[in-house]
Amino acid sequence: MESLKIREGAFVFLRLDLNVPIKDGQVQDDTRIQSALPTLRWLLERKARVAMVSHLGRPKSGPDPKFSLEPVGQRIAELLGTEVTFLSTLSDTTLFKLHQRTGAQGPVLFENVRFLSGETKNDPDVAHLLVDGYEFYINDAFGAVHRAHSSVAAAAELIPAENRALGFLIRKEIEHLSPIMKNPAAPFTLIMGGAKVSDKVGVMLNLMNQCHNVLVGGAMAYTFLKFRGVDVGLSKFEPDQMQLVEQIFRVAEARKVRLCLPIDHVGAEAFSVHATPQPVGTAQLPSNLMGLDIGPKTVQLYESVIAQSRTILWNGPMGVFEFPSFAKGTLAIAHALARATSATTVVGGGDSIAALNQAGVASKITHVSTGGGASLEYLEGRTLPGLKMHLTAESAN
Ligand code: AMP
Repeated sequence: MESLKIREGAFVFLRLDLNVPIKDGQVQDDTRIQSALPTLRWLLERKARVAMVSHLGRPKSGPDPKFSLEPVGQRIAELLGTEVTFLSTLSDTTLFKLHQRTGAQGPVLFENVRFLSGETKNDPDVAHLLVDGYEFYINDAFGAVHRAHSSVAAAAELIPAENRALGFLIRKEIEHLSPIMKNPAAPFTLIMGGAKVSDKVGVMLNLMNQCHNVLVGGAMAYTFLKFRGVDVGLSKFEPDQMQLVEQIFRVAEARKVRLCLPIDHVGAEAFSVHATPQPVGTAQLPSNLMGLDIGPKTVQLYESVIAQSRTILWNGPMGVFEFPSFAKGTLAIAHALARATSATTVVGGGDSIAALNQAGVASKITHVSTGGGASLEYLEGRTLPGLKMHLTAESAN
């Protein structure tokens, strides 16, 4: 980005990920807004005329006030201490003309780009509507780089390579995620949890080229245990994912990766926040219980592997972390990562990040990734639609 020749008054299209939770017109968590500020500030210091464009939520068909970015504009104005012009119309003419008409020298925020039908289909007409007239295009929406949408993919290609770049947030993400795939310090441990095997299998298979240990938790562990012939009682498992699990076991064996599964659990009779936690001291669960968290022996085993690792990547909770009685395993992993001060630690996924915050240890982690889906797809080694043209352009500079 620093190589862009941005002069005072230059019109810049800035794609951000301002997809924050909003309730009753108030921003509930401004982490993503805060993460967008370094690039925005850098541009404003150069007195560029910046158009901020983002999505928010998943509006079904056209404009819907529930998904308006207006409260986000107010929050940005508070954080920057400057006026932010909000433009609620997107479609009469190009964004550039609307932007020019405001006469605003300060930043302009456009309404939710997903209100434009065609945005999520990477429609080239939408791409023209968005960027025609703008001199520069900057993408700093890490949470959206895995989407082939007009504002992240087709629009970028309409701007000459020397006038487009990635912002500071995306570059920071790549700086931390890329070494994990290329040359992680050994031993490298992958900790995978959460609901579904299918969401994590791509990352597991790709990273098993480099990693030494895989620690599995969360509901997905029960599909692995079931495949091994262990009784999982009433636990959630995915019968249609057995083939993928078999593939993971095969690859782990071939590459001599140690794959650890829970050896005990915290069970419950029902999936409920009020359920009484019941310790289960074996890998096997009785027929009347479901596993909702890893047990203390598993925690100890995972802690000892973590303590011996020099690179650790964690994505997904070890149990039903939203229910306080079943959050212990996930919080223990958060603390174990915080204690691994000589290791590079990288954490992604909403629940794992929430666990770090709840444990008060987020600042002790080397890198907390802001884009859940995007970081997983990046670590699968896929070419992401929002990155490919920039990476070639940036490496050429
Ligand atoms: P993911 O979005 O794939 O990372 O999955 C997170 C979700 O997995 C959370 O909502 C957890 O409640 C859920 N989860 C984790 N462990 C279990 C489990 N043992 N049984 C059911 N759901 C679980």
